[in-house]
Amino acid sequence: MRKNIVAGNWKMNLNFTEAEELAAILAEQLEGKSLKCEVVICPPALYLEMATDFAEESVVKVGAQNVSNQESGAYTGEIAAGMLASVDVEYCLVGHSERRKYFNEDNAFLAQKVDKLLDHDLTPVYCCGEQLEEREKGNHFTVVEQQISEGLFHLNDGEFSNVVIAYEPVWAIGTGVTASSEQAQEMHAFIRGLVAKKYGEELAEETTLLYGGSCNSKNAKELFSQSDVDGGLIGGASLKAEEFVAIINSF
Ligand code: PEP
Repeated sequence: MRKNIVAGNWKMNLNFTEAEELAAILAEQLEGKSLKCEVVICPPALYLEMATDFAEESVVKVGAQNVSNQESGAYTGEIAAGMLASVDVEYCLVGHSERRKYFNEDNAFLAQKVDKLLDHDLTPVYCCGEQLEEREKGNHFTVVEQQISEGLFHLNDGEFSNVVIAYEPVWAIGTGVTASSEQAQEMHAFIRGLVAKKYGEELAEETTLLYGGSCNSKNAKELFSQSDVDGGLIGGASLKAEEFVAIINSF
């Protein structure tokens, strides 16, 4: 179902005490507020259970940053989708550009992760986005189309309806350079068009598309007001409670 979402990707930041403090402040500040979006926090795996404990008492939902492509077994250091589900995690990022870049995760591999998450009723937040050189060469639409078709278009309609897509131009992640609202809208409309071609208009209209890349409390309102932008995946700005809450309140 299409909904507004603001998700915070904490990446590999904060010690346990700091993470607990941030989760507690968020839960407190959002308590009793009628929000126009769903709020998701994606802490490091070690803190997921702490976060889902807070989530139980609040409107905040919890996502993981990564998942194994395997069901279980001898995969030292990995965390399976079933394990995430067993501690009440509801979302999981897949294919963040940092995973693609530093861990060589390709679309075929990411498709397996998506399958595992759906098998365990978790919502994959499938990340896509072009690098600066690709945009400069005018290849950004082709790159994003390939990422989405190879990572997601093996799914049937029912499966696809449980996926969220996050468009995150790599040149905007952690750089302070945000895509303009026109650039974000243009790509989101393109992605919705791809989904419509594959799954039909109705499902495309129901698909949640998030923007990510140096989104903050100053630019969120304009980005979120675009007709095909249904919220944001927030990195750096999600580590400061006040800033993250301001972004949530941009809807
Ligand atoms: C991200 O890592 O998903 C992200 C959007 O980071 P930032 O907001 O810091 O650019």
